[in-house]
Amino acid sequence: MISLQLRSAPLPISEPLVMRLNSAKGPDLSNCSNHDAHLIDFEGETAEYEFRGFSIYVNCQNPEELDGDVVMLTPGRNILHRLIRKTSAHNTLLITEQCDQKCIMCSQPPKELHVDLFDAFSEAILLAPFETTIGLSGGEPMLHKARLFEFIAKANLARPDLRFHVLTNGQHFEPSDLAALKNIELSTVLWGIPVFAADPDVHDKIVVKSGAHAKLHESLALLGSVGADIELRTVVMRTNVNGLPQLATHLATHVPYAHFWAMMQMENIGYARMNWDTEFSDNSRNFSPIGQAISLAVTKGLETTLYNFPLCTIPEPYRRYSVRSISDWKQKYLPVCEACNMRTSCGGFFQWYPEAKGFAEIKAL
Ligand code: SF4
Repeated sequence: MISLQLRSAPLPISEPLVMRLNSAKGPDLSNCSNHDAHLIDFEGETAEYEFRGFSIYVNCQNPEELDGDVVMLTPGRNILHRLIRKTSAHNTLLITEQCDQKCIMCSQPPKELHVDLFDAFSEAILLAPFETTIGLSGGEPMLHKARLFEFIAKANLARPDLRFHVLTNGQHFEPSDLAALKNIELSTVLWGIPVFAADPDVHDKIVVKSGAHAKLHESLALLGSVGADIELRTVVMRTNVNGLPQLATHLATHVPYAHFWAMMQMENIGYARMNWDTEFSDNSRNFSPIGQAISLAVTKGLETTLYNFPLCTIPEPYRRYSVRSISDWKQKYLPVCEACNMRTSCGGFFQWYPEAKGFAEIKAL
């Protein structure tokens, strides 16, 4: 697994410190900015970087793997956070761990404390590679929507090449947000919003919030009215799997302006791990409701994709809807995958996938 946090020696700082690591040996002054740290030594497993006249010590196996990474040090912690990895297409900034829902499959269960890192993130994205897409996630980022809108608007001005993928539960958009929404370049943002069922009771039960389904649809309509790009996201579970065909029709009818719909397999971490035994739906045994949902959605003009499904668990006619969605840093393959001809097209598994109680049928293709 790729580590997103590395140990570093303590620094006497009072604010988060953002820098970009340059791992070519010796300072490259031709490429020097106020935010660039330069590798000056590597011994054992410690890399020493020079940054604004002092040394940063980072524990790592190979500093070349960190070259170009945008990192953050926070006060009082000996941890270096790899915010934006130069070679990765899966960079996400954690806006907050607070959330007003408690979805039964949540991979990042909410916490009460919030630390506002928007200023540090604003510095970080200035150092991102050209045309990067950056995830903005939580928790629920829209709990801090004034700061979020401000962050995106500033980013649009400073780095118009960047794109953002905001994961939000769709509970906090209000008509009073229209001005702020119009102030950001909407073509740079994809709003990823979960909808779990056409039936409000089923949706509200899954997110553990009464009235969430109704509020969600108000938010979708508001986003649709300004032409925002929307990715509808549905985690497949035993609670909602048989209602997927109904949901396909519902979404194509009520949210026809959505960019596309993604059905997703569960990730065995957080609340999902607690509820795995009762909620994991093994599509290698029964793909029928998912297949019906795809056919219905596509027939009605709603583009549809599958996230987090190993290819061999999908019947062949539906494999073309699958995308390699699992982030590189938490992706793995099983020994059986060694002999598989489809491995380069298959997204594999989450690091924490529980083989003993996972898909019944995994086979090399
Ligand atoms: S055997 Fe492994 S690589 Fe091949 S399709 Fe299945 S999960 Fe993917």
